[in-house]
Amino acid sequence: MPRLDDILDILKKSKHQRPRPVFCPNCQSPKIKLKESYGILPQMYHCEKCGYEGPLILELEPEDSEEPEEP
Ligand SMILES: [Zn+2]
Repeated sequence: MPRLDDILDILKKSKHQRPRPVFCPNCQSPKIKLKESYGILPQMYHCEKCGYEGPLILELEPEDSEEPEEP
């Protein structure tokens, strides 16, 4: 049975990994979705706005300033 400390640690880590906002490289729309992959193929994205399909997306890093580091 896993210890409570370990579970809390895992929850803390998973919470820290925020999903990054992704944008279409063609029209800069955020309505771009990851298509289902079949394991052997590279990840493909589909833009619902302009119909772009491809493995490339714009990925923006979130600002670091909103979450102060704990001491
Ligand atoms: Zn697009």
